[in-house]
Amino acid sequence: MTKSDLHVAESYRQRLLISRADIQRRVTELAQQISKDYAGRIPILIGVLNGAFIFLADLVRQLQIDCEVDFVKISSYGCGKESSGAVRMLKDLDADIRDRDVLVVEDIVDSGLSVQWLRRYFEEREPRSLRVVAFLRKVGAARVPYEVEYIGFDIPNAFVVGYGLDLGQRYRNLPDIYVLEEVSPP
Ligand code: 5GP
Repeated sequence: MTKSDLHVAESYRQRLLISRADIQRRVTELAQQISKDYAGRIPILIGVLNGAFIFLADLVRQLQIDCEVDFVKISSYGCGKESSGAVRMLKDLDADIRDRDVLVVEDIVDSGLSVQWLRRYFEEREPRSLRVVAFLRKVGAARVPYEVEYIGFDIPNAFVVGYGLDLGQRYRNLPDIYVLEEVSPP
C-alpha cells in the first residue's frame, strides 16, 4: 500500500486532484520565477503554519537565491471544515521585517480573509516589499478582495487535503492533493 492509497476517513471519499509530479513541476516553476524576481536580494520567506510547511520546504530548496525563513501561526478553521471568519495571531514573527523583502508563503487562499489580514499585519511592520505566494487558490470562493502575486494552482471550490493541508490535523502527509467529498449515509 502506498501513501496515496490511504483511506482518509470513513465518511469521506477521496479524489485525486493534483499529483505529486504536477506539484513538483509547478513548485520548480514558481521557484524559478521568484529567484528571477528577487535576484540580488535576500528575501525573508514567512511560512503560515501549519498548512504551508511542506510547500515552503519544497520551495526554498528550489530557490537559486539566498533567503531567510520565519513562521507565523494564525487561527482560521479550528479542526473542522467551516471557517469561523475570525483571524488571530497564535505565533508571531521572530524576525524584524522592517525594510526587508517579505514573501508570505500560504498553503491555500479560500475566502481571502487570512491573506487580507496577514497583508495588513505585515504592512504595519514597514517591510521594503511585501508579496504573497499561495500554493492553491479556490476559484469563486473570495469573500473579500485580496491580492496574491504568485499562485501554484487554481482549484475548484471544494475541500482539499494533502501536501500540508489537513482535516482535523490529519492527512497533511499525503504527497498529492485530494478533494474530500462527504459520502451521504445510505
Ligand atoms: P481563508 O482565510 O482564505 O478562507 O482560508 C485560509 C486558510 O483556511 C488556509 O490557510 C487553510 O488553513 C484553510 N483552508 C481553506 N480551504 C481549505 C481546504 O480546502 N482544505 C484545508 N485543509 N484547509 C483549508
